[in-house]
Amino acid sequence: MIPRKPITKLLIANRGEIALRIAKTARRMGIKTVGVYSDADSEALYLNYMDEKVRLGPPPPRESYLQIEKILAAVEETKADGVHPGYGFISENADFAMRVAGQGVSWVGPPPDAVRKMGSKIGSRDIARAHGVPLVPGSDGAVKTFEEAKAVADRVGYPVMVKASGGGGGIGLVRVEDESTLARTLEDASKKAATFFGDPSVFIEKYILRPRHIEVQVFGDKHGQLVHMGERECSIQRRNQKVIEETPSPIVTAEKRKEMGDAALRLAKAVGYTSSGTVEFVADQQGNFYFLEMNTRLQVEHTVTEMVLGQDLVEWQLRVAGGEELPLGQSALQAKGHAIQFRICAEDPEKRFAPSPGAIEKMELPAGEGVRCDFGFAAGTKVTPYYDSLIGKLVVHGKDRQDAIEKAKHALNGLVVVGIKTNIELHKKVLATEQFLRGELSTAFLSEVLQYKW
Ligand code: ADP
Ligand code: ADP
Ligand code: MG
Repeated sequence: MIPRKPITKLLIANRGEIALRIAKTARRMGIKTVGVYSDADSEALYLNYMDEKVRLGPPPPRESYLQIEKILAAVEETKADGVHPGYGFISENADFAMRVAGQGVSWVGPPPDAVRKMGSKIGSRDIARAHGVPLVPGSDGAVKTFEEAKAVADRVGYPVMVKASGGGGGIGLVRVEDESTLARTLEDASKKAATFFGDPSVFIEKYILRPRHIEVQVFGDKHGQLVHMGERECSIQRRNQKVIEETPSPIVTAEKRKEMGDAALRLAKAVGYTSSGTVEFVADQQGNFYFLEMNTRLQVEHTVTEMVLGQDLVEWQLRVAGGEELPLGQSALQAKGHAIQFRICAEDPEKRFAPSPGAIEKMELPAGEGVRCDFGFAAGTKVTPYYDSLIGKLVVHGKDRQDAIEKAKHALNGLVVVGIKTNIELHKKVLATEQFLRGELSTAFLSEVLQYKW
């Protein structure tokens, strides 16, 4: 028996839109909220949604949002009985998860052991292989020498991708066109991986041309129940980072959904998964899918899944962390309609997506049935240069894909941000293409169809 231990006071170890979004659900559930902040965020909007707040330190993440000791001290000081890590930062840090649990506090995430196993891309490929989940062709494990790398690349064919095992957020991936740059890339990638991720291991995958990124949301409780919540297609990307996400995918049939869902569940089950997780795949233009990685946390684009299911995944996470069973079983999870999310970023797509920090002078958010805005900023607040450029997310829900696209066009016209450069125009341009309307998506869309450069 898993004892019930509802969370009464939640420390949210994050910032921006996701800290605000988590706090809203916590408050609706009657849970007190504790926010943390760096000196760059002392006036940030999300702090208005916190019952208490604790300063972590100077702006750089290493001195604030990545400071495990300071966050643990804040948990103790405020007597919080739950910790939600959001995404990014320390959300996939198994040691942090373990330390939280060690203080007798509920960790709002999967078991630390599952975080550790899936935190290594190489390790997660081994688990996927062992459970019959198709992998992108590539090396069996870490690649250490040029000879090993060359042998793998010759076998799978160029271009290949050199990947850091500990990478994330599109960082630590390098495409290699031919043998001439392989040796240097391998060396550089390994050095960078050691510095950025504390793990020098790199491996090699075949580069799938014009792939589609399709991922499956999974959810488990501590009583052994595990469900999948269908897929999200996140093929509109720049720099291997997502820009537009939708569900359902225009190319996933009911049969394919079951196949991908089953594969994701096999993997989740193999590591005793609980809470929210995402199994990411790339699909080639023939529709074959291959495992990429598992993200052991709430995903930025969880919102589209919420819209079609009519469920709140943060509420699910908080209830499951408190020992409750999953609110709904597999057969009760019936998706309705179509949802699309647009990441609104403080950046200039015309200048290779250069970050565009500054003061937001004016901001108007669209509203209406089927329109949702998750923003961490408002007029009068500042976007600083220290963190991710994501300022908010516009999400629309329609009765089908076409209806969602129509709603999105209206909503984007009603979204006004003055003072900084944003990618709002880029979103409008995407929606104006025939290719997008036909659902002909790939990760090369922004560069090939709209000629963006980065
Ligand atoms: P999602 O898959 O949820 O869309 P991303 O992979 O885009 O998530 O990453 C979510 C956030 O976390 C982004 O802000 C990204 O920059 C950050 N992030 C994720 N993993 C890492 C990492 N290992 N190092 C640095 N930032 C990361
Ligand atoms: P991260 O941890 O940074 O999110 P992923 O392995 O999930 O790394 O890959 C991020 C993105 O990079 C994918 O969504 C896809 O666009 C691209 N990508 C990754 N692996 C491949 C591959 N083998 N072939 C083509 N594109 C890839
Ligand atoms: Mg990924």
